[in-house]
Amino acid sequence: MPNVNQKDQQNYDIIIVGAGPAGVSTALHLAKLAPEFVYRTLILEKARHPRPKLCGGGILPDAEFILRSLDLDINEIPHVDVDWARFDFDGQGMRMRGEKGGRFAFRTIRRYEFDAWLAGKARERGFTILENTTVKKIDVHETEVVVTTDRGEYHAVAVVGADGSNSLVRRAIIPHEDTHVARLLEIVTEPRPERSFHIQADSYFDFVYVPQGILGYSWDFPALENGKPVRVRGIYDSNVYPVNSDVSLREAMADEFNRHGYELEEYKLEGHPLRWFDPKSIFSSRRVLLAGDAAGVDALFGEGISIALGYGGFAARALRDAFARQDFSFGDYRRLILGSEMGKSLRRRTWWAKFYYHLRWRGFQRLVWHHLGAVVTWVMQHFMIGWARRGKRQA
Ligand SMILES: Cc1cc2nc3c(=O)[nH]c(=O)nc-3n(C[C@H](O)[C@H](O)[C@H](O)COP(=O)(O)OP(=O)(O)OC[C@H]3O[C@@H](n4cnc5c(N)ncnc54)[C@H](O)[C@@H]3O)c2cc1C
Repeated sequence: MPNVNQKDQQNYDIIIVGAGPAGVSTALHLAKLAPEFVYRTLILEKARHPRPKLCGGGILPDAEFILRSLDLDINEIPHVDVDWARFDFDGQGMRMRGEKGGRFAFRTIRRYEFDAWLAGKARERGFTILENTTVKKIDVHETEVVVTTDRGEYHAVAVVGADGSNSLVRRAIIPHEDTHVARLLEIVTEPRPERSFHIQADSYFDFVYVPQGILGYSWDFPALENGKPVRVRGIYDSNVYPVNSDVSLREAMADEFNRHGYELEEYKLEGHPLRWFDPKSIFSSRRVLLAGDAAGVDALFGEGISIALGYGGFAARALRDAFARQDFSFGDYRRLILGSEMGKSLRRRTWWAKFYYHLRWRGFQRLVWHHLGAVVTWVMQHFMIGWARRGKRQA
């Protein structure tokens, strides 16, 4: 129920813009931390679940840890247990599992299923998600935020911008900003085990195009679509430096397809940006919080599902505390993020992305992926993943 009165259905305490993992996680964490807000929160979503979302769908153990803490079990939806994550350069490399001693590297889901499932859980817990409603404008006033949509105007005490990498909410509080955006292309194909040299149970990250100026990797993940095995393939360019690449993303993707016995022209190629984390960035302003891609995720690999779920927990805590203190400056939100295990992991990933993608010569790439596998595994397992569990232990 809205906070003002029954007649005025457009006044809420909290409006969350975007029903992706960041927005829905904010809601689910709120239901746990401060259930009194469930009926005083409105989630606005421009699409309708199940909606398409370009994504490799790789779910790391951190995401599953957060889901379990919210009493959610990913086994309820179709997924694939990826045996090994392989990191290659020039046809050789290393392999690792997500957690030391883990049974698998990570899992893959398809986002239309995952996000619809998550949104369903928020609805079951009492939240209202208004779909097919696009937020067009955010005006922050002294005592409220006015959210203008294509279906009318809504008012809130505080707003969470969980509206992805092209976030309108972010642009409302930080105008004229077009940096820190990675580029990604993706295609879902049928498996061709007879033509591809990839092991079908494994996922691949290939850094073959780094020396040519693509500051990222091509990926190939196994997944399930409508019950059938598929391969989700794509290419990631972190863009952590301005570089004049020798190849375009499309050319690199075509080359990658060729190497595995596919013709790029036969498929529909789609792209989407990804905002990466900068510790110096702005994460909130008066009455407004940013979460997920709108705030910034992993620069090194473009991993953002677990991070979006993680942001949800911090946004919910900041909201609960703001209402308790009746102080909506959200001055502590930045400290909350940067001081958290997730924030530390994100900081390290941005640092590593800038370091690693700077050293683009072939000899260095060979050294890292052909000879330093044990070191890379140790760094990843201790400093980049596992932050959700470490954060819980500290809390
Ligand atoms: C090609 C690609 C591959 C990726 N692969 C992986 C991977 O394998 N593993 C991984 O962990 N991460 C991956 N990522 C990153 C991951 O997809 C994102 O980090 C994650 O989706 C962030 O979640 P979010 O909730 O912040 O944003 P989103 O998932 O983008 O959700 C934002 C929501 O807001 C809605 N919205 C947007 N604007 C408005 C508006 N104006 N009004 C109302 N609603 C609005 C959108 O419809 C959407 O539902 C990939 C990203 C890309 C682009």
